[in-house]
Amino acid sequence: MSARTPLETFWSDQVLAAARDAAADPSLLPLAITAADGKTRCTWCDCPDGPDSPHNNPAYRCTGCPTTARQVVSFYARPNLRYDYPACEQHYAEIVGQIVRAAAASR
Ligand SMILES: [Zn+2]
Ligand SMILES: [Zn+2]
Repeated sequence: MSARTPLETFWSDQVLAAARDAAADPSLLPLAITAADGKTRCTWCDCPDGPDSPHNNPAYRCTGCPTTARQVVSFYARPNLRYDYPACEQHYAEIVGQIVRAAAASR
């Protein structure tokens, strides 16, 4: 896995800026897809979400997906509140789908 090229970093900044603007408009889903740094693990896992999630326990170590993330899906809950979800190729669609469902449910 190679490091980011300057062009990818530039492109990522542009995409992130656009998503930040979109976060100010609730009719748009403020998502940005950027290249991962090649060192971050995929954030996908099958653990239950919500108050019963084992992730609420700081000592919990999720087995999740051991694959290196290819892309980072960034979601802007507010213009200055960003959540990043690194995703491998296999789980990219699932992660985007889960964010879309969560965003739709919070409206
Ligand atoms: Zn988990
Ligand atoms: Zn994965």
